[in-house]
Amino acid sequence: MQVLKFGGTSLKNEKAIKQVNAIMESRDSKSCVVVSAIGHTTDELQKIADTAKRGEVEYLNSIEELEKSHYSLYRSLIDKKESLELQSCFTQLKRVCEGVYLLKELTSKSQDFILGTGELASSIIISDYFVKQGLDSIRHDTRKLIVTDHRYGAANVDFAKTANRFREVEKDFRKVNVFPGFIAGTTTGETTTLGRGGSDYTASIIASTLNAKSLEIWTDVDGIMTADPQRVKRSHTVSQVTYDEALELSYFGAKVLYPQSIEPVLKAGIPVWVKNTFHPEKPGTFISNEYSDEHLIKGISSINEVTILSISGSTLRNNGGFFPRLFSGLAGKEIPIAFMTHSNAGLTVTLGVETKHARSAIRTLKKEFSSSEEKQVLDSMDVEDGYSLLALIGSNMKDQIGVSGNMFNVLGRNGISIKAISQGSSERNISAIIPKSDLDKALNVLHESFFLSLTRRINLFIIGTGNVGKAFLGQLKKQFSFLKEHHHLNIKVIGVANSRQMAFEKDGIPLSKWEDRLSKGETFDKSAFVQHMVDLNFRNSVFIDITASSDISSMYKDILKESISVVTPNKIAATRTYDAYLELKGVAKKFKSQFYIETNVCAGLPILSTLHDLVRSGDQVNKLQAVLSGTLNFLFNEYDGSKPFADVIRKAKGLGYTEPDPRLDISGEDVMRKLLILIRESGYPMEADQIALTSFLPDSCQQSADLNDFYDKIESAESYFKELYDKSIANGTRLKVVASYENGKGKVSLEEIPDTHPFYHLEGKDNVVLFYTNRYAEQPLVIKGAGAGAEVTASGIFADVLRIAQSDS
Ligand code: ADP
Ligand code: ASP
Ligand code: MG
Repeated sequence: MQVLKFGGTSLKNEKAIKQVNAIMESRDSKSCVVVSAIGHTTDELQKIADTAKRGEVEYLNSIEELEKSHYSLYRSLIDKKESLELQSCFTQLKRVCEGVYLLKELTSKSQDFILGTGELASSIIISDYFVKQGLDSIRHDTRKLIVTDHRYGAANVDFAKTANRFREVEKDFRKVNVFPGFIAGTTTGETTTLGRGGSDYTASIIASTLNAKSLEIWTDVDGIMTADPQRVKRSHTVSQVTYDEALELSYFGAKVLYPQSIEPVLKAGIPVWVKNTFHPEKPGTFISNEYSDEHLIKGISSINEVTILSISGSTLRNNGGFFPRLFSGLAGKEIPIAFMTHSNAGLTVTLGVETKHARSAIRTLKKEFSSSEEKQVLDSMDVEDGYSLLALIGSNMKDQIGVSGNMFNVLGRNGISIKAISQGSSERNISAIIPKSDLDKALNVLHESFFLSLTRRINLFIIGTGNVGKAFLGQLKKQFSFLKEHHHLNIKVIGVANSRQMAFEKDGIPLSKWEDRLSKGETFDKSAFVQHMVDLNFRNSVFIDITASSDISSMYKDILKESISVVTPNKIAATRTYDAYLELKGVAKKFKSQFYIETNVCAGLPILSTLHDLVRSGDQVNKLQAVLSGTLNFLFNEYDGSKPFADVIRKAKGLGYTEPDPRLDISGEDVMRKLLILIRESGYPMEADQIALTSFLPDSCQQSADLNDFYDKIESAESYFKELYDKSIANGTRLKVVASYENGKGKVSLEEIPDTHPFYHLEGKDNVVLFYTNRYAEQPLVIKGAGAGAEVTASGIFADVLRIAQSDS
């Protein structure tokens, strides 16, 4: 059994009702359908009741109009002229209203009867339409099924009696069972209502009574949103909330759910979906016990019209039980306290109640505290209208330092004065009272601040799980909690692939299980990978290419165009023609994505970011000198003739210091590409073939069929390498492959470096870059450090991801 509730907004006209029918036709299992009144009927009925109470005969015209619109809907949906049931609804309405009109008295009992007409009428129309459309459907009367006390206006449900009544009627159930929402009945047969917006509650009561599989609340928005979409344009759907969070959101004003509707389903553990009738394909919001950490704050709610009552007087303290009396007094009159603060010094209590309850609250308090001393205090009670209450809601808030500080900062920065603040005892909300005139502004700036910058979720799509890919995923796993806690970054790996397989998980692949998920994934297809990433359409998506593949690098342009950022150590894209390089940069700029390639040059060393800072701040690079290959530096530092040069190459590859194909390093090609990128990023146009690359390899090693052939050839040329080494030792120098740029010319060659030069002492696999700029004219800016290795490259990728995460665009 499933329970579906369609609100008035989902039934507002013929087209909407047809949409509801289509949703029901798509269901296989038995269902209960709870319907609200059509569109704004309940508001109209309230107006009719008020007009009659004032003794104004116009109430009759309004009833007739309402009747007409219901009939016209009935006739257009169901090709039948008459419905006796519909007719009887309106006849009864007229009779009761006439009584109100004659007596000029509207009791809460008559009011419930009048307002309930809307749901009775809509349930007749919907169920007759379902039958006409061929659904196996029947209508039930909630006035006889949901048993309440006589508290008209917001009656209390007797769940045990209600369950008994349902047990009796269940045998008559058909596939689709239609129930009017909002209305219920006393044991003596009077109509009661469950409170405005109470059809959600009806649905929840039925779901819990029948122990339904699920409850679906169908409305006119995509689910529970981060804020009221009518006030905050950039609000977005929250995919998942807990029952508690949903309760707080609705309690503090999110109209999409009636607060009481949470408890029955919470107790029965029934999952709830809030969905859009007009976009059933959208996922909506899922409400359950499951905690989701997508955002620290789930939403911002507001109660728009609040009156502040301030009571101050130490005499109240002497009269024991001040607070219990205050609470029970207001509760007795069904007045919810939206907000409360108190100070013990002298006893000052500030209460916020919805303005519509304010007068009744004042009366109640005066009655409750009526002894002569108390009366004095109550007489000087301060009453101020014109306020609103806004509340930030989220379960994770209690572990989060600084949320309230940030909230007040943001309001303050925007010139919004705060009348009072309060952190709810549940620690799931922080609320503030502000002038009503500032409400829209306050909601919007808070929304911007908390949803657009607090916990940012970053969604990664990674291709390449070799040495560097593995190291990156390992680092991410290690840093995950730290980033979340200290940088409010929730970095999720949504897709991961190698050359054979790919795997996706919408909520993030568990970082300790990515290998397992990948091994069970589908066959890798680069276009399908990108398409999937685009279809998911996540905010803050980053594509990370950790391959050396030319094919994959060819996709960057299309990815950047989707406003997905690209991070990569793969140099191919940035070293094609200068025009192609500029095009990528242009696309990224136009589509507000980022193209970060820090690890193209010297792995994790901050070479390009430093260069960008120099250029951006107006400096100019005049000359570059660099040892850009950790691999070559390692080879020439390791090689001393005691072991063949080929073995040293093998060792470097084994340690992850080389490109996947080490020939790219040894030929100097890789150094040339890095120099090309440095020159281009310095702002100079340059093509690869304009750089003079002199290989240090003998002619016999220049060409090789494959890697084995290459090693064979290097082994055969061992004496050549030994000679190079001996010569440099004899000259008191060290061998380094140096890349340089000056006066528009780039050059890469093996050089003997004397011990007076800063490159001489470059150890292991270190890299160094010397920038000679206008500001660093005499003494260059030197950046030196480990320039190869899986871990350092991975950390460079990490740094780029963080740069994207923390950028404002
Ligand atoms: P229904 O007729 O379906 O019961 P309601 O009008 O009672 O619909 O509730 C849906 C409306 O609630 C939306 O149209 C929206 O304007 C309003 N609303 C206020 N706050 C929120 C929120 N946080 N999330 C979603 N909707 C909200
Ligand atoms: N029709 C009722 C109202 O407008 C109940 C509901 O829609 O939930 O308050
Ligand atoms: Mg509603």
